[in-house]
Amino acid sequence: MCDRLLLEGHTVVGLDNLLTGSLDNLAHLNSSSSFRFVQHDVNQPLDGFDPGGAADAVLHMASAASPKDYLAHPIETLEVGSVGTRNMLELARAHSARFLITSTSECYGDPLVHPQVETYWGNVNPVGPRSCYDESKRFAEAMTMAYHRTHSVRTNIARIFNTYGPRMQLNDGRVVPAFMDQALRGEPLTVFGDGSQTRSFCYVSDLVDGLYRLMLSEERYPVNLGNPHEMTILDFATHIIRLTNSSSTVVREALPEDDPRQRRPDISKARRVLGWEPVVPLEEGLKHTADFFRRKVSAQEA
Ligand code: UDP
Repeated sequence: MCDRLLLEGHTVVGLDNLLTGSLDNLAHLNSSSSFRFVQHDVNQPLDGFDPGGAADAVLHMASAASPKDYLAHPIETLEVGSVGTRNMLELARAHSARFLITSTSECYGDPLVHPQVETYWGNVNPVGPRSCYDESKRFAEAMTMAYHRTHSVRTNIARIFNTYGPRMQLNDGRVVPAFMDQALRGEPLTVFGDGSQTRSFCYVSDLVDGLYRLMLSEERYPVNLGNPHEMTILDFATHIIRLTNSSSTVVREALPEDDPRQRRPDISKARRVLGWEPVVPLEEGLKHTADFFRRKVSAQEA
């Protein structure tokens, strides 16, 4: 997102507490005079924070996003959707800036409506292990709408579906880094359950383009951003093994509690309102991602 904003000619200040992120992903921006990084936890007050002038937009994208990470940090995850969202909304309000929040398809929980359309209210377990993420994001959406209605902040809400690409962490636990890591090392791919659950994978540059368009739009209600190409996790494993020319096999492991059975975005609204749809085919996106992970795995093995 920072790269895209800089490419469009903006000046960017990145805030991150690096709970799950890495400065390596920003190394190429070290010499940019239009980019500044501040290590800060947005759950903490922003007293004295000066973006270096009037901010035009606040993009609140902070959160652990992988089940492994949010299960390890449930309280921080709940806080970043609640306290963190409020802090970022206050920042936007103080600067009369636009505000965009990256919400999630997890708002739909284990969906009873398929594909998922924005008007579906979801099927979320409020006390299950994933609730720290799901309810945090649902609260964040509600807080965002409240700031829009009460303080007229120009808000946007993106509901992001499974996204992948270079710069993910190898040990992030999500299915793309996990399968890539295993396939590149020739280890068995860990398919949870019988692998018949489905997901739809969007390449990062498509997602960023959707977010950028949404940020410039006047749409206040949530917009799904994701790739509607749906596949089973078992098919996905086979795909990755073939693409990486790996000798890996597949092993079954227990299905995590409340793992959604199916997930595919209905993107009619994004097409209509933003003129957006994904353009990067899965094969091509996975190739770029495999190149990145191959370098990561080699560096670790060296
Ligand atoms: N998954 C899997 N093996 C793994 C990691 C994930 O089979 O090593 C499955 C997981 O159970 C889920 C899907 O892949 O059904 C996507 O999981 P991920 O954690 O990437 O994201 P989610 O969509 O669950 O938030």
